[in-house]
Amino acid sequence: MRGAVLYGPRDLRFEECDTPTIIKPTDAIIRMAVTCVCGSELWDYRGLNPVTQTKPMGHEYCGIVEEVGRAVTLIKPGPFVIGSFFASDNTCPNCQAGYQSGCEHREFVGDAQAPLLRVPLADGTLVATPEVPSDDLVPSLLALSDVMGTGWFAAAAANVKPGKTVAVVGDGAVGLLGVLSAKQMGAERLIAMSRHASRQKLAREFGVTDLVTERGDEGMARIKELTDGIGVDSVLECVGTQESMMQAIRSTRRGGSVGYVGVPHGVELNGQEMFYAHVHLHGGPAPARRFLPELIDLVWQGQINPGKVFDLTLPLDQVAEGYRAMDERRAIKTLLRP
Ligand SMILES: [Zn+2]
Repeated sequence: MRGAVLYGPRDLRFEECDTPTIIKPTDAIIRMAVTCVCGSELWDYRGLNPVTQTKPMGHEYCGIVEEVGRAVTLIKPGPFVIGSFFASDNTCPNCQAGYQSGCEHREFVGDAQAPLLRVPLADGTLVATPEVPSDDLVPSLLALSDVMGTGWFAAAAANVKPGKTVAVVGDGAVGLLGVLSAKQMGAERLIAMSRHASRQKLAREFGVTDLVTERGDEGMARIKELTDGIGVDSVLECVGTQESMMQAIRSTRRGGSVGYVGVPHGVELNGQEMFYAHVHLHGGPAPARRFLPELIDLVWQGQINPGKVFDLTLPLDQVAEGYRAMDERRAIKTLLRP
């Protein structure tokens, strides 16, 4: 089969690679229905994370179970399943606490931009849909594998509750789905920080009430203005830069919460400032597995449509163009069809 492999900055190839097989008895092999490109992969693609050896790409996946190892008991061949980018046993103390992305036995699933995928710890990782979904549901179900689970975690970590005022820093796919998540959790006033027309439009569609186009300290000042100088109850930080992190912390009211899911690059926090800010900070790689049953249900009932963040669909063999389009901000997120 052929899959996506990164060779170096902006050098992504779709090339022949080994067909995955069951290696451990707890593995499953799934045939990809659709896959996609993650914003976090642009860090590698742009060379901001050094690529020292060729790297298979892709960690968002859903599809039909083809084969399972002999120790897999809950998942059988046949169903449509979704899993998270971290495989987890779903039984260790960290999983039991809802932090499957911190599972004691976690394994990163990192070669999903291919027609077939080996998923470790299949029983703990994969969640089946009620039946094989109709085509129109598939993009939204794929989104639950990472991007929607991450937006949802940002909102949960930021303690979004009905009636609260919420701001979202970052208008990438995660930020936009953070908006959708906060709306679904009952946010009353919902402020998005965005300066791109197409993204503002989707943010409005997902429930944003106010748009702020300023960034950094100016963005923070604008949020203070909108909240009588107090700041918002919850901020979802969905970028991962020093500027976005400080903007998030400084936009939060005393006692409020920041949920941060942008992978930090060069972020450093000042102890004194944090001490006097009175702000809760919680974040990390999203335990997408925790939310899968609930989010599958919401998609299945037509209550949420996170698949709307895919504004470019390409055949999998054009994956390189999928990266280019996101790198150049011509696309919010690329869906790939094997
Ligand atoms: Zn675990």
